[in-house]
Amino acid sequence: MSTAYKQKREGRGIQVDQNRNGAIDSPIQAYLEELCRRFAKNRDGDVATYIPELAKADPEWFGISIATSDGQVYEAGDSRQTFTIQSISKPFTYGLALEDRGRDAVLAKIGVEPTGDAFNSISLAPGTGCPLNPMINAGAIAAASLVAGRSPADKLERLMAVFSFYAGRHLDLDVAVYESESQTGHRNRAIGHMLRNFGILTEDPEPVLDLYFRQCSIAVDCHDLALMAATLANGGVNPRTGERAVRADLVPSILSVMTTCGMYDSAGEWVYWVGMPAKSGVAGGVLAVLPGQLGIGIFSPRLDAHGNSVRGVAVCKELSQTYNLHLTRAPRALHAAVRSRYTLASISSRRMRHEAERKLLDADGHRARVYDVHGDLTFSAVEPLVRQLVDISADVEVVVIGFRRAEHVDDAASRLLLDLALRFAASGKHIVFVSLQRHPGVRRFLEEGAAASGVRLPVFRDIDPALEWCENLLLRSSTPALTDPGSVQLVDHNICRGMAPQELHVLEGLLEPRRFGADDLIIREGDAAQEIYLLMRGEVSVTVDLPNGQRERFSTLAPGMAFGELAVVNRGVRNADVRADTEVECYALSTAAFDRLGETHPAIKITVLENLLRNVARMLSRANQELATLAS
Ligand code: GLN
Repeated sequence: MSTAYKQKREGRGIQVDQNRNGAIDSPIQAYLEELCRRFAKNRDGDVATYIPELAKADPEWFGISIATSDGQVYEAGDSRQTFTIQSISKPFTYGLALEDRGRDAVLAKIGVEPTGDAFNSISLAPGTGCPLNPMINAGAIAAASLVAGRSPADKLERLMAVFSFYAGRHLDLDVAVYESESQTGHRNRAIGHMLRNFGILTEDPEPVLDLYFRQCSIAVDCHDLALMAATLANGGVNPRTGERAVRADLVPSILSVMTTCGMYDSAGEWVYWVGMPAKSGVAGGVLAVLPGQLGIGIFSPRLDAHGNSVRGVAVCKELSQTYNLHLTRAPRALHAAVRSRYTLASISSRRMRHEAERKLLDADGHRARVYDVHGDLTFSAVEPLVRQLVDISADVEVVVIGFRRAEHVDDAASRLLLDLALRFAASGKHIVFVSLQRHPGVRRFLEEGAAASGVRLPVFRDIDPALEWCENLLLRSSTPALTDPGSVQLVDHNICRGMAPQELHVLEGLLEPRRFGADDLIIREGDAAQEIYLLMRGEVSVTVDLPNGQRERFSTLAPGMAFGELAVVNRGVRNADVRADTEVECYALSTAAFDRLGETHPAIKITVLENLLRNVARMLSRANQELATLAS
């Protein structure tokens, strides 16, 4: 960390600039401005003159820009001063050639070995005449020849479009610089003709050289370079526009040659001190990429002996050290994937269970485990999960994996999870996948992979039905088997617990039988509450309609349970819908009758209230337990 920056961070001499909205300036912004001020004092190096037009650059121009892989751009100094991209174009054209011709065809013509030679060296592999890599001019000219198109104009148009996708805006040529290089580029012409001689170019070298000169003359600024770099950092998609500039699987190939060859004969020093795939250009631009995280664009025209911007290199060194950006300092790969885990003994589905079922699930719940995963699921993130699941596999029947908070699941992680699910299935156990809506490709991969092995994977949109599925699985495999009561008699209803036969008789006199068809709305949210319902046969669900149009289930009730009691006790309005899931029979107890009962038979009313309270208490302690489990 620089001394000046350290002092600022430690509070000595912090200048908190208030901007017009009253918000403070970002410390990152302030740091970039400080870098501009500090490194402006470095006047080493010389502006390139071999392309006459470049000699006109103001040597004091100096801009810095950082773009994050989610599209935030910080910029300082002359970050909007345009300049020609020059050799920074090479990785992008290489990517286009890979996309147009395929990896094999490109590798057959252009190697991936660093040369240790200068950018304009005429170094071709002995024997084959292949350029050693696509970052030196020979390799870049060969890459330009591989851009597909019906005519030179078509090729240029395709190339410009791709560069514009990277930058997220329409880019243009600096015609003066193009003409200047085209008129003086004898050395590059020599390279082009050498390539023709060795059959690396199979056509007239002149149009290829022309395309190369034009790609080098694309006008950009630091803001563009940072976003182009961030697009590579972001797997080929511009983080601002969301548009893809290059196929994701080609990005590592582009970044590899940038790492080993991007800074020419100082590539080793660069990787040692900065540690980011990068590319420089003779106009003074430097572009660096930290995969997955950010892109950097710097512009300052004075060059060192390698042809790299002096200030650009110096600023990148400091940025890398201050913000720990060196590739080999990857933040400890994780952030293991597991965000929370629990068993069915501590969290249950929203289906209310009878006493006997509940007891069984309390006892057996540990045989069903739930793992919620989050973040980016790669090999290193998923490996600890796989390890845990292998370890517990002897003790469980079913494992639920919830993907609601997973950002990205790569193919290595998908393969591991599929393999694990198949191994579970082979020993009669299950892995249940939940909330894969945001990852349809992963879902397809898992389902198709399982189907190919004759396995049907349980996949659910939401955790609640998945938990219910697991509970049913545990209940089915229990001995002795529990039989679903289907219907209850009044004497067995929860509400009547502890009542003497004559009390039961009195209560029965106040109840009105009601029948509903499947899907009938029994209670409507917002209506005045006038009845308590005793469910005798069938099932009902308590639901609310969410603002997003979806319906959320609070609970599903079975015979022997009561509903609608809360609003009656506090004499309010209904706060949820209750709908019949099946044909339903119940008894309704009106508030008026309940009040009368208090006058004629207070003991019975007390018993009913106690029983209702017991249910509420059970629900509350369940909810508390869930909260505690999820908070831990
Ligand atoms: N157009 C320049 C050339 O071919 C690009 C070189 C560079 O930026 N290093 O000489």
